[in-house]
Amino acid sequence: MKCYYHEDREAVATCQHCGKALCKACASLYTPCLCEECAQLLRNQQAEQARSAEESRRQKYLDALVDTRSEFLRTCVYGVITALILGSILPRGSLSGLELALFSTMFFFIPFGWKLITYLQSFLPLTIFGTLWFWVFWALVKGIVSIFIGIPAFLYQLVKTFFVQRELQAASQVRQQEPEGL
Ligand SMILES: [Zn+2]
Ligand SMILES: [Zn+2]
Repeated sequence: MKCYYHEDREAVATCQHCGKALCKACASLYTPCLCEECAQLLRNQQAEQARSAEESRRQKYLDALVDTRSEFLRTCVYGVITALILGSILPRGSLSGLELALFSTMFFFIPFGWKLITYLQSFLPLTIFGTLWFWVFWALVKGIVSIFIGIPAFLYQLVKTFFVQRELQAASQVRQQEPEGL
């Protein structure tokens, strides 16, 4: 049997994927033993898988951003829980009632800051820092930054929710009108 690519050479192996006969030079190009076409096919498949994995990762981050009314309300609930938990560990003796109320209010906005950072994070190639300690550190930084950007993030998401809600309503009105037009 001769090599599929070289008619003058004796075949020593076959492609693991399609069974084409390959000479020694062709057979040694890829491990496992593959012909040129199958190797290319496999490369394309791998690239496609990597792309869709990247796409689903990005989608996950985009979903994390508050943009519907129900998500906004859910984030408010998270805010109340965060305020209750963090508010309960504040040193009550050394803070006045006003200070306690102020801090608890700030804590309420943390989930909004967190969501905004998660959204911005989707534009960073953070997968390259894959270690656990990096993520622990990152979560800590995220938590602290969330406190500071919580209120603007809340306002941003409030406005965004309002506009998204209006778009949704407009879209559903168009859908309701469509049967009459047909
Ligand atoms: Zn092949
Ligand atoms: Zn060959």
